[in-house]
Amino acid sequence: MYIFKAAVIGAGTMGAEIAQVISWSGLPVVLKDVDQEFVDRGMEKIKAIYGRRVKSGKMSQGEADSKLALVIPAVDYKEFKDVDIVIEAVPEKMELKKKIFAELDQVCPSTTILASNTSALSISEMAAATRRAPRVVGLHFFFPASVMKLVEVIAGRETSDETMDTAVEFTESLRKLPVRVKECAGFLVNRVLMASMTEVLKFQEETNTPYSEVDELMKAKGGVPIGPFSLSDTLGLDIALDVAYTLEKAYGERFTPTRSLVDLVKAGNLGTKTGKGFYNYTG
Ligand code: NAD
Repeated sequence: MYIFKAAVIGAGTMGAEIAQVISWSGLPVVLKDVDQEFVDRGMEKIKAIYGRRVKSGKMSQGEADSKLALVIPAVDYKEFKDVDIVIEAVPEKMELKKKIFAELDQVCPSTTILASNTSALSISEMAAATRRAPRVVGLHFFFPASVMKLVEVIAGRETSDETMDTAVEFTESLRKLPVRVKECAGFLVNRVLMASMTEVLKFQEETNTPYSEVDELMKAKGGVPIGPFSLSDTLGLDIALDVAYTLEKAYGERFTPTRSLVDLVKAGNLGTKTGKGFYNYTG
């Protein structure tokens, strides 16, 4: 199946990045959120990515403008009548995702592939909210999607081989590196990543070592490009906590989130997106 037009639901941290990647490949892509303000913010993020590319000489302003024009901002489903694939990138809450999959099932052609960018949740459960389980798949991009090559392509229990093949080909057409993974909580990457992240967060809490010291140590000795606390702030602490809960439910207490993470989210400090997380970003 050839993809002529795509859509992304949710213009947040991941949705805007994914829409940028799709527009860069030359495809029209609808970017939908619940509010014009959120859509505008997503469009600004995409504009900023293209702006940086123009500044570094990777593309001309004319090329950037024509790619940006491929992104169709939306707050409703009017543009979904002829989309071939939709990638859902709303918060990591199963009930919300199921509601959106049920809506998409109503408004999209019956041939449209419905994909989720979920970090850890069950694709099969989302598929059950539709009448097209064979056409539901996981497409898990990593932050920042405009840069990161890897994409996990996840088959739910009923995902057809044809859908998997189309999802893999589509990912390759975006110049990404697809990896087929089996469905399990956290899939491959987050299951591994969150195991080590949780361990480091627990170490910090037990020893009361400053976040910055742990981050510097991990960069110097742990071979990582960004420390775990900076990374968590960048990804979004609400997302990190939701993923931790999903993994805890599936694999037990080795994934139990630390008190510091729970408290920060409770206080609405979600990382860079709110200006405060483990670190303070205001000013
Ligand atoms: P986010 O909170 O930054 O953005 C979510 C967006 O969805 C918000 O703009 C919100 O307004 C919008 N939204 C909420 N309800 C909606 C609805 N009914 N219709 C349309 N839009 C709606 O979240 P995020 O970090 O972009 O995460 C999105 C998904 O991507 C999650 O499933 C997360 O697990 C996954 N993910 C996140 C990262 C990351 O680094 N943050 C990486 C990979 C995957």
